[in-house]
Amino acid sequence: MSLTGQAKIAGVAGWPVGHSLSPRLHGYWIAEYKLDAAYIPLPIRPEDFAPAVALLPKLGLRGLNVTIPHKEAAFALATEQDEAAKATGAVNTLIFEDGRIVGKNTDVAGVIGMLHDAGIATLAGKHALVYGAGGAARAVVLALTKLQAAQIFIANRTQSKAQDLAKRFSIPGSAVVAVSEGTELGNVDVLINTTSVGMIGKDAGENASLPALRFDAQPGSAYAIDIVYRPLETPFLSKHRKAGLKIVDGLGMLLHQAVPAFKAWFGIEPKVTPALRAHMIEALKD
Ligand code: NAP
Repeated sequence: MSLTGQAKIAGVAGWPVGHSLSPRLHGYWIAEYKLDAAYIPLPIRPEDFAPAVALLPKLGLRGLNVTIPHKEAAFALATEQDEAAKATGAVNTLIFEDGRIVGKNTDVAGVIGMLHDAGIATLAGKHALVYGAGGAARAVVLALTKLQAAQIFIANRTQSKAQDLAKRFSIPGSAVVAVSEGTELGNVDVLINTTSVGMIGKDAGENASLPALRFDAQPGSAYAIDIVYRPLETPFLSKHRKAGLKIVDGLGMLLHQAVPAFKAWFGIEPKVTPALRAHMIEALKD
């Protein structure tokens, strides 16, 4: 569909941005809902990000997704932040509205949507183990908290970052577990990898696997989840699939985090469907 002079425009800012799947994702919905809209990649150097954010609303853009390395700058430039952004200290979506710059963290909704699709509507009474303590881990821990997980363990290569993450979400320090081979935990129902270990391009040598902690994950009822989606089935997922756990890949998080942003910019709450997933998997084969 060709654009009119009324077209609504949004985009993704990153440096580089060529790897981003967001134009394909939002472009799919724009075509599906036959909108007079466009979603464009915006390669913006770090030093140009603040002036760009000042200018883009004046050019009529509705907002931006923000990817590496602009997430912290986006948080600082937002004139207001939603609850998830404040809690995580990270912004992945900007909405330009009446002179305001609203910063959102939609990764939290992405994690909840991914878990819902996997049949997890609540974690009440359940124990979760989060590998990693980076930016994405914050969104995951907040999502697990919102789903009322009874216990959240955190394991990270750099112990001090795990402690910081636990403190941020008022998780007892004792829930931070040393990442060493064979460390014993109690019962765990949900394991989530939020590290970049297993990601294509980071897959060699020491990056090949996470240390095997020992826990009682019940085959058949426990879940292993990886938020990495290149490859779709990571070594972490393969290992736990073979051990009889249900596995969930990271593509669902990517798809669901886009829903609130699309709604805010274009006025329609889009659906995450099997057809959309298939469309995105095509691009992951490249
Ligand atoms: P980040 O802030 O840089 O954090 C990276 C994490 O990975 C840290 O916990 C780091 O541990 C750990 N790590 C890196 N290399 C490691 C290694 N060799 N051994 C053990 N731990 C290692 O990155 P992020 O933004 O959280 O992103 C993490 C991953 O999530 C990336 O692969 C990203 O693509 C993915 N992600 C997916 C989605 C989605 O929509 N599915 C959304 C966001 C992010 P240290 O603290 O010890 O350095």
